[in-house]
Amino acid sequence: MESFNTTATYEPARERRPQFWRLAMRCAQIAGTVDVIFFFLFLALGSPILAWVNVVSVAMYTGAYYALKYHKNKIAVVLIWAEVLIHAALGIILIGWGSGFHYYLLMFIPAICVSASRRWAVYALLGLWGYYIALDVLMWFIEPLQPIPQTALHIVHLFNLSVVFAMFSYLSSYYLRMVVSAQRKLREMATTDSLTGLSNRRHMTYLAEKELARFQRSGHPVGFLLLDVDHFKSINDAYGHETGDRVLSCVADVIRKELRAQDLVGRWGGEEFLAILPDTDSGKAQASAERVRNAFLAKDWKAIIGGEVDITVSIGVSELRPDEDLSTAVSRADAALYRGKTSGRNRVELETV
Ligand code: GH3
Ligand code: MG
Ligand code: MG
Repeated sequence: MESFNTTATYEPARERRPQFWRLAMRCAQIAGTVDVIFFFLFLALGSPILAWVNVVSVAMYTGAYYALKYHKNKIAVVLIWAEVLIHAALGIILIGWGSGFHYYLLMFIPAICVSASRRWAVYALLGLWGYYIALDVLMWFIEPLQPIPQTALHIVHLFNLSVVFAMFSYLSSYYLRMVVSAQRKLREMATTDSLTGLSNRRHMTYLAEKELARFQRSGHPVGFLLLDVDHFKSINDAYGHETGDRVLSCVADVIRKELRAQDLVGRWGGEEFLAILPDTDSGKAQASAERVRNAFLAKDWKAIIGGEVDITVSIGVSELRPDEDLSTAVSRADAALYRGKTSGRNRVELETV
């Protein structure tokens, strides 16, 4: 299936989709085990030829498993396709359509759809469909070459049906897990600031609006802290952007640690952070802001930056007013922050009435 991939990148296929190849390994194991069962089943049913076909199948699946293990994916894909196509055809031609060996061909449909580019998937699906139809039509005209008793045929049919049913269930739950985990990753990427692990501005706005509606209804106070790192540009200039990034990540940790679990904290801009404090009036919010500011003074920044420097912050504080929206409350905190900056930085300033 690797060869169907036309979305050419220079990464080897196994690194592009490691889960898919792990799944292929698991399927090779399961299919090999099923063929071992078949070997004994056909011996018991008195069909030694079919029993020995399964020995070849087990060898092919073992080969495919080790090819996948050593990242020879193309070899594995050829072995698996060849095994399924030939085994299904032999089963049908030798003991008849009623054996249900054709069901195995259907299991390629989802595998083709998830692994190949759209164009190649169409070719592969058409080829598979043609093969399936050809086998069906062929059996209208010929009798099975190695018929087995009717009861044995029923047993083989039910066995094949059950194996395909179980494998489809397994593959479907695997594909579902893949989709759910991709969704989770996307959601995280869309809502989290990757540097600090805090909510990004968009997500913070979303969370804040939900909280504000709740608190406006209850009439409980909501405090806002807008925090900006002082002279941050000079940290970048003196120690480099990477050190600046490390500092920002520590800044986020300090704020998070000093505030309560129910407080919402997000990265609002470059070196600017917003905290929303539910059930907190401006007096209490101011006290929290002082606690944060003092935590910055107490922190050993030398260990993080590697130079003799202190990181300080200026914080503007506001309190939500009745029927006010998020941006108005934040802009009053911003005005207070601006006053903090112009009056010397490393300060907490409360909004003016
Ligand atoms: P002030 O005390 O007035 O806030 O001064 P300042 O230097 O902190 O503010 P200014 O707005 O002049 O500079 C902010 C700097 O923050 C400039 C920008 O390069 C830096 N910055 C913004 N985002 C990031 C980031 O993600 N990583 C790093 N390392 N620096 C960033
Ligand atoms: Mg700044
Ligand atoms: Mg700033």
